[in-house]
Amino acid sequence: MPDPPYLSLKQYARRTFGVPLLKIPLDAGLGCPNRDGTISRGGCVYCDARGSGTGARSSVPEQLDQGLARIRARRADPDEEPQVVAYFQAFTNTHAPIERLAEIYEPTFDHDEVTAVAIGTRPDCVGAEVMDLLAELNQRKPIWLELGLQTASNETLDRINRGHTSEKFADAARRAASQGLLVCAHVIVGLPGEDLRAVEDTARFVADLPVDMVKVHTLYVAHVPAPCKLRHWPC
Ligand code: SF4
Repeated sequence: MPDPPYLSLKQYARRTFGVPLLKIPLDAGLGCPNRDGTISRGGCVYCDARGSGTGARSSVPEQLDQGLARIRARRADPDEEPQVVAYFQAFTNTHAPIERLAEIYEPTFDHDEVTAVAIGTRPDCVGAEVMDLLAELNQRKPIWLELGLQTASNETLDRINRGHTSEKFADAARRAASQGLLVCAHVIVGLPGEDLRAVEDTARFVADLPVDMVKVHTLYVAHVPAPCKLRHWPC
């Protein structure tokens, strides 16, 4: 069987660094415009109360140190030091005043043991000011901008209460790539009302954009917004 036309994260790490790559999930205590009323109060249907985060209440430097300690304790090969990506995972990690964002990110860029910084956010939360900050920080360490798309179908995006369109994602991905950031698209397979063709459409949509990585999730519906937009889905 021919090799697939992509690398797994494991293969990418081996080829790029020669060692495994591990992510430390961080919860910076930020919120989300799709929960705080800026866009909606319902949130995406698959999002849990912790915004897909760890629920950690300690500071970012403390979480980093705890993550590094876990990695050291679990290292399979003591002679092989993994590369570390600090991952701002919970909620929307560009949804705060710019000064606060700079303060939150700084410990990860300042840390000798962190190779790259991943920042999870929504495509409608990376305006010019945020992009300028990220472009500046990207000169110090590579940034992976983890952008939620989930699907190329605007109908499905509305059904799952995402609060943005696929066009918004395309715009954010292009602007991020033009600043030299690595773009990671998050997509979900198994969304309500979608079949294999819809998944293929999303794959083609992502392939036509300057996207470097794709993270594929399966669907878990954490709650249903009211009024229920899933009414045409047999649930
Ligand atoms: S944008 Fe992210 S944090 Fe906000 S509701 Fe959706 S999944 Fe949750």
